[in-house]
Amino acid sequence: MLKPYLVFRCHKCRNFTNAPAGQKRRRCSYCGHIIDITKAACALFDTPEQASDAVKEYNASRGGDAFHKVVEASKDRVKALLPSEKLSTKDVVDKSEDDLPSGKTQRLLKLLEKEASESDCSLDRIAEICPEYQLDWQWVEDQLNKLSNSGILIFPRPWTVKLVDSPTEKTVKAPIVDVTKDIVLRIEELGGEARVDDVIEYLKQMGVSQESVETSLDRLMTQGVVYVPKTGIIGLV
Ligand SMILES: [Zn+2]
Repeated sequence: MLKPYLVFRCHKCRNFTNAPAGQKRRRCSYCGHIIDITKAACALFDTPEQASDAVKEYNASRGGDAFHKVVEASKDRVKALLPSEKLSTKDVVDKSEDDLPSGKTQRLLKLLEKEASESDCSLDRIAEICPEYQLDWQWVEDQLNKLSNSGILIFPRPWTVKLVDSPTEKTVKAPIVDVTKDIVLRIEELGGEARVDDVIEYLKQMGVSQESVETSLDRLMTQGVVYVPKTGIIGLV
């Protein structure tokens, strides 16, 4: 038998959308807001097709009576289908806090790496375990959208998330370091003049990013330590 579907409205953008009964949260396809289905008025439909037809109809007519009638009629069944809120006085205190990183974002990434890197993880599950990571859902919800905007995670389904890549690789950019001294030394070694590309290549081999070399070259230029005798060539003054 097919699972019944709920149709409800995003309270942020007022658009209608749906989710299988039992799901507590979904991401609004229109505005990205994560909707708390348990707090929304829901209309119940027996199949996903009926639900998606209703979504189209309600969005076209902006809801109105048709929606409220179904909400009224399905009230009791909806209530029975929604997962009851657990008495969540889970004891978080004896959980070893030593394993947890101190930064909130780091803790969230840790949670996601554990739960949502191999396969997708439901928003419900994340909301359920975020206290274990000393995170509150309100904050997590915001972050999930931000992470999604920066391409670190995706919503494979409106009610699940999955990490795209290791977030540490994506977010940690090589720091820009000052290599002015190394540049001057290298140019000296080469007899007082060098090709910019050669200097970049040389320092790259030492693990210095091109950005660092360029920033340092700019600095040397401003300080009047080096000059450009010809395009692509750098010389010591
Ligand atoms: Zn919305």
